[in-house]
Amino acid sequence: MQYNYDFEIASLVIFAVLLGHFILIRQFPTEQTRAFRRLLVVSACECMVNIISCVGLANAAVVPVLWNEVFVFAFFVLEGLASFLLFRYMEVICAFRGREKRVIKLAGILPFAAFEAMVLTTPFTGFFYYFEEGAYRQGFGADWGYLYVCYYFLLNFVMIFLCRKTIATRIKVIVFVYSAAAVLAVLAQYRWRDILLTSTGNMLILLMLYMAMQNREQLIDSVSGVANEKAFENQMENLLAHPQERVLLMIYLRQFGHIGTVLGEESSRQILAMVGAYLLQLCGKYHVFRNSGAAFTVIADSAEDAQRFTEEIKKRFAADWQVSHNDVSVNAAILIQRYPQDFHTLPDYRGMCGYLKERAKSAGNQTVFRTDEALIKKYRRRIQVELAVGQAIRRKSFEVWYQPIYSLRQGRIVSLEALVRLKDEKLGFISPDEFIPLAERDGNIIYIGEFVLEEVCRFLAKHVLPNPSLGIMTVHVNVSMAQCLRKNLKESIMPILEKYHIPASMITLEITERIAIEAPKLMQRHMRELGKLGMAFAIDDYGSGNSNCSYLIQFPFREVKIDKDITTAYFQSSTARIVLENEIRTIQKLGLPVIVEGIENSEQSEAMERLDVDFIQGYYYGRPMPGAECLKYIRKFHSAPEEYGKED
Ligand code: C2E
Ligand code: CA
Ligand code: CA
Repeated sequence: MQYNYDFEIASLVIFAVLLGHFILIRQFPTEQTRAFRRLLVVSACECMVNIISCVGLANAAVVPVLWNEVFVFAFFVLEGLASFLLFRYMEVICAFRGREKRVIKLAGILPFAAFEAMVLTTPFTGFFYYFEEGAYRQGFGADWGYLYVCYYFLLNFVMIFLCRKTIATRIKVIVFVYSAAAVLAVLAQYRWRDILLTSTGNMLILLMLYMAMQNREQLIDSVSGVANEKAFENQMENLLAHPQERVLLMIYLRQFGHIGTVLGEESSRQILAMVGAYLLQLCGKYHVFRNSGAAFTVIADSAEDAQRFTEEIKKRFAADWQVSHNDVSVNAAILIQRYPQDFHTLPDYRGMCGYLKERAKSAGNQTVFRTDEALIKKYRRRIQVELAVGQAIRRKSFEVWYQPIYSLRQGRIVSLEALVRLKDEKLGFISPDEFIPLAERDGNIIYIGEFVLEEVCRFLAKHVLPNPSLGIMTVHVNVSMAQCLRKNLKESIMPILEKYHIPASMITLEITERIAIEAPKLMQRHMRELGKLGMAFAIDDYGSGNSNCSYLIQFPFREVKIDKDITTAYFQSSTARIVLENEIRTIQKLGLPVIVEGIENSEQSEAMERLDVDFIQGYYYGRPMPGAECLKYIRKFHSAPEEYGKED
């Protein structure tokens, strides 16, 4: 029979292009990539051998019989192998486990072994083919070859079906389409035996797989030369689907942006490349990934490896990196999480990394940060609180409570501090000390600040303005750093006051010294603008930081609030006593009234009276209360100041 191998020649060209592309584009060396490479090489060889043997058979008269016998034999060996390798590739994608894995493996290997055994014995048995006077003849078992190929397509279907829940739809579609195409090719081959189509079918399959899976993204980071974020995600997907103990080290380059600013973008790229090369050489190419920003992740196979890598990396980063004749010191933190103890999903891992990064940022000389149960608990709590804040914002369920501020000179309550309250269905009462810093971090504080101010204005308009006998002159409202850093503080405050017809003099804004330190110019402008309208500012938590009285001169504060921790310390240590007494004297010399926070009993109150303090805020003169309760409290307090409210 004369064979037509035009299709096979076209297929060989395409195989060559595919192979060239595969080699040129650096693939991330995963198990899947290796399986694909084996399949590609064997299929290309099969195609080539098929063509050579056809040419040989067509020219049997001039070609030695042995030549033809060798190539026909090689073709059958490779044909068996190609189907088996396609099965192996699918096996890697499906990644079965346990008993299923063993059964599938057996179902893949046995027919392959049987087929190859038949091929190996064919020269003696004539099962698939035999040569008659130098001419090729199909053997009595030739059709088993078609069955063999079809069996593997069927097996692929079964495999995809078994892991249908974990496998992407894209892969399912591809397997379905290529199987259909390949079965058509086999049928066509069966019908038109003189037209060779075996490799054409294979080529179509590989082309589809390559376009759909192997070449979807380039998986190498061009700057550092290690695998990129996408490869990391793939690897994690694998790991999470088939839990094996691993330790993940994130090498986070602290303040790496500064290097770019000082030495230029090119130098920071060079450092990333050097760090990448160093990590590859230390940890092996399958283990190192570059994450977005200046961070690398190493996936260590064991705790021992992780320990060794940590020590080595610490040592390496203690030394400098040489970049364009500069010795650059790179400050790296190593963030360590164990799988599966510490996390179960990629978002969990990433979230915890973010949390560890934050800690690493503010702990300059600590290098290694490990996750442990206590830390995970803290992190979870934080997420829950953040969610609770988000929900309270959507539901407008924050409350504003008021705490009396007592004037020692007048012997009565003269103002209030507005304090925000959050009660969550699940978590119960959440202290502002816990959620305000989180809200500051994600910007929710802007909303909370406006909500509190509006509530205060509503309260003043409804209950305080119509009742001058209450004697409440002002309400203190806390403003956060994020609010003050906005250029238009005045524009965000005044419309709310105007809406409720509240004079600006009824609001005192409390700011902490941190705000004054971080944005002095802007803060002075805010204070000037709002001060002109009659609004007062008090410095809150005075004495808790490094406050010195220069702020009091530099900024037009009207009052100074002494932090409750200082008050507590005052009654516990003689040093704190001297410091506070001096501070109060200095502030008073500057002509500023002092509010002391955290006074909880009569002795403390009397001690403050002796120091000639102006105002007191503390549980002794009333705890924070809901608005209505606070009004009742003030009335009762003023009707019988000796009996009401004071806690001892
Ligand atoms: P702060 O401004 O120093 O508020 C005073 C805190 O001391 C309040 O805690 C108050 O309940 C508490 N306190 C008052 N008297 C006593 C006392 O005699 N003993 C003790 N042990 N504590 C006393 P709270 O309400 O938990 O607020 C904590 C912090 O949260 C506030 O400290 C303030 O920094 C922040 N905060 C509260 N409400 C707001 C708000 O509406 N906006 C902003 N930006 N921050 C707020
Ligand atoms: Ca305050
Ligand atoms: Ca305070």
